[in-house]
Amino acid sequence: MVHTLSYPPTGEWILVDDRHVQRVGVGEPPRADRVVDLPGTTIVPGFIDTHVHLTGTGVHHRAPEVAAAASRDELLGTVRAAAAGQDGPLLVHGFDESRWHDRTLPSIAELDVACELPLALVRVDGHVTLANHRALDASGISGGTGLELDGEGRPTGRVTQEANTRLKRWFNTHLSEHDVEQLQLAAASLAVSHGVTCIHEMSMIHERGVRDLEILLAHRTRLPLDVVTYVATTDIPQVMDLGLPRIGGDLPLDGSIGARTASLTSAYADAPGNGALSFSDDELAEFFHGGHLAGLQVGVHAIGDAAIEQVVRTWERVYASLDSRERRHFRARRHRVEHFEMAGADVLERAAMLGLAISVQPTFDAEWGSPGGLYDQALGWDRAAPMNPFRGLLERGIEIGVGSDSPITTLDPLVAIAAFGSHHDPAQRLTREEAIRACTLGSARLAHQEDKKGSLEPGKHADLVAYDADPFDAEDLREVNPVLTVSLGRDVFAA
Ligand SMILES: [Zn+2]
Repeated sequence: MVHTLSYPPTGEWILVDDRHVQRVGVGEPPRADRVVDLPGTTIVPGFIDTHVHLTGTGVHHRAPEVAAAASRDELLGTVRAAAAGQDGPLLVHGFDESRWHDRTLPSIAELDVACELPLALVRVDGHVTLANHRALDASGISGGTGLELDGEGRPTGRVTQEANTRLKRWFNTHLSEHDVEQLQLAAASLAVSHGVTCIHEMSMIHERGVRDLEILLAHRTRLPLDVVTYVATTDIPQVMDLGLPRIGGDLPLDGSIGARTASLTSAYADAPGNGALSFSDDELAEFFHGGHLAGLQVGVHAIGDAAIEQVVRTWERVYASLDSRERRHFRARRHRVEHFEMAGADVLERAAMLGLAISVQPTFDAEWGSPGGLYDQALGWDRAAPMNPFRGLLERGIEIGVGSDSPITTLDPLVAIAAFGSHHDPAQRLTREEAIRACTLGSARLAHQEDKKGSLEPGKHADLVAYDADPFDAEDLREVNPVLTVSLGRDVFAA
């Protein structure tokens, strides 16, 4: 069975000519040079993940136990184990204390004992890092925004905001070029093993250095999947020099709820302050205006309600400043917002009027959106309950694509599809078919690739995945497994 997500909706065979789909049909298949028989399987278009950090995904999968640690002691144990075979700085990712019974983080003294090398232990959301003294010394971070100090003015080891960016950047630039290539390749291989044939790489050059991006661009054609690159910068000439038709991507306008740095209109329920915005309205307007007039698709990261409000009011201001010629095809540009989690009904309508396209993460809701979960803890249920209004987005006619934000959540589209079906608010759930469309055609549209990807029809890329059961109607998607993944006509994964 082939689900085309086009017309006709299903077929029994698919004929591929080199990189492209030639025909889909039923009955006797046409003659072909090579025949792959996959009895009992269901073929769907290759999935497109709109928000991936490839190198970070590779780092995460080097020490997957960190994410599973259920207490401070377990976390320290995973660090000791990872440090054992290490001869250079140790960067690990994925702990999540919001799930711990006792949420006390390890002290800097405990981290010093656990690892004698420079150690950076990055929280699952990337916005908090725990560092030992050797890491702070080696990276030269002795003060500034985000270096938490105790009552006596000594670092606690907890690092956020600017200091976190500098710290991660130091670690990432101390990986070898070969290491970075291997991490990116490992992440791409993991993706195709889950049926993903295209990712939107959210390149964070302020954290990883430009070298990380240059390495990716240099070897991307050797990777088993397609990579669409978004660079988190406001430097328009820089991306134009790279020949990219898009800019920004995960450029952070605020932080995360986990780090209590997402920008809110009123204070956190369980922490001081209400986060902070990275840019003034004027700075953001200049960036949006310049990017739009340069013909680029512009994307930003916004999670908190104050950051989302800033994106929308700034695009409204930029739109109002354009003359009628510059306004033509404005909506068709599909300027993007990543996450868009604390979006109220009023802001949805305004985003829809601007034609903003949203890269959503249904797995965030599954991980943190339920009563008693992280969002409830940080915001209180009044503000957590209306978050991630997926059906609301569709009802207002807003384009959505779907990302994992891997390594923050798992790079597996079936997990995202299941999360759409189990949203904490039943009124915001998507049907299985809506969810699969969002993860294929919707995601393709977010990168203006709907003429090449997202469905199986003549002339489109031969990007497809065969599953051992039909993901359109399997009761439990955890029991559905990829059998074969094909990207641009190449077999890139076989179970
Ligand atoms: Zn982001």
